[in-house]
Amino acid sequence: MSGYFKEIITGLKSLAIGLQITNKEFFTKPITLQYPHESVKMTPRYRGHIELVKDPQTGTHRCIACGMCEKGCPTGCITVQAEKREGVKGKVLTAYILNFTTCSLCGQCVENCKPEAINFSNEYNLASTRREDYIFNLLQKLHPEGVPEPEIDPELLKKEREKKEAAKKEPAKKAAAKEGGESKAEEKS
Ligand code: SF4
Ligand code: SF4
Repeated sequence: MSGYFKEIITGLKSLAIGLQITNKEFFTKPITLQYPHESVKMTPRYRGHIELVKDPQTGTHRCIACGMCEKGCPTGCITVQAEKREGVKGKVLTAYILNFTTCSLCGQCVENCKPEAINFSNEYNLASTRREDYIFNLLQKLHPEGVPEPEIDPELLKKEREKKEAAKKEPAKKAAAKEGGESKAEEKS
């Protein structure tokens, strides 16, 4: 009979402890989130896939298409595409492809980038069963609404056009000079 009461007392004691914990947690701020309706605030040193950094002054990236990130990537998962455009200083970035399926998040590309044009993103929502979903054009990701046109320098444009015109006239000049030389030689003989 005494064992029976002992069990009841132990049960009540355990119930009281349980209720105490429940009450304490009820008034404590929850640490869980209503995912996917709420997103996690990542720590500053979290490494998501790399991304192009938006320059607050220009509103676009700082990439000069030097290719140092591409060269330094040990797994070859970066492809930088760029072209020369009339009146624009340097090369214009046309695509920045990251194959995240082979990225080891080593950080070599970020370290190699002198203009600090790339950094690790806070992206963690990347679940997919398709490989294609892990191949990103970081330029498109930065400007989903469309990539802004680069600024044209009128002075540079003028110089480039003059140079082109001069290059076009060069063969005609050479031919005229050659002809002149030949006719002089004929006159002498
Ligand atoms: S973090 Fe490393 S593996 Fe990933 S893209 Fe950069 S250099 Fe390549
Ligand atoms: S991201 Fe940096 S290292 Fe890579 S091409 Fe652009 S400027 Fe060069």
